[in-house]
Amino acid sequence: MKILIVSGAGLSAPSGVPTFRNGLWEKYKIEEVATHEAWLKDPKRVIEFFDQRRQELAKYQPNEAHRFLAKLPNSVHLTQNVDDLCERAGEAPMHLHGRLRWVRCEECGQRWDVGYAPQPKSCPQCGGGGVVRPDVVLFGEMAPNYRYLYTTKADIFIAIGTSGRVIDIADLAKNFSCSILVNPKREKRVTMFGEFEEYIDQYFTNFVQKSADEAVEDIQKLLKEM
Ligand SMILES: [Zn+2]
Repeated sequence: MKILIVSGAGLSAPSGVPTFRNGLWEKYKIEEVATHEAWLKDPKRVIEFFDQRRQELAKYQPNEAHRFLAKLPNSVHLTQNVDDLCERAGEAPMHLHGRLRWVRCEECGQRWDVGYAPQPKSCPQCGGGGVVRPDVVLFGEMAPNYRYLYTTKADIFIAIGTSGRVIDIADLAKNFSCSILVNPKREKRVTMFGEFEEYIDQYFTNFVQKSADEAVEDIQKLLKEM
């Protein structure tokens, strides 16, 4: 049985990584640091914000859930997270919103890993000044890897730590006869059309109402039964 996993901020939250809905936006205005408009208007501010996030990333460690996913056989993992905690747990998921450790040159398209350091001012390949940027998908930008949400063939769908507000996981879950939702709280389904009456967990065949790191045993048990 093949498993499709879609994860969000709740996977890394138990490791202490601040999420957009929890902590980060108390200090920053999303429209000033993480949107395409912000990048066009004040790229320095955007670079500074992501440089800071990248440096902070070094201090966080993978948790139980990252380690569990890294060992899960026959699975495809698509993550909305830009951190490298899955990689440090030994997994290489597909990043839907890019990778914080990576930057890219807008001039020549070159991408490279800068580790946890602030991004360089120029591109080593073409030398173009002022066009290096974080290799993450900003709000208002295309996310070409989203196609894998709809083209990946699998028998079981697991959604971990995502509120479903960016990716409509309820809609995805409808395609699976076996599905598991892991989230510490119940969330109403919200799409571009507004808030639904239904809770997201109503679209899944199983709901584990726990944080990602505390849900590992429950997921293992459910998978055995499937
Ligand atoms: Zn370049």
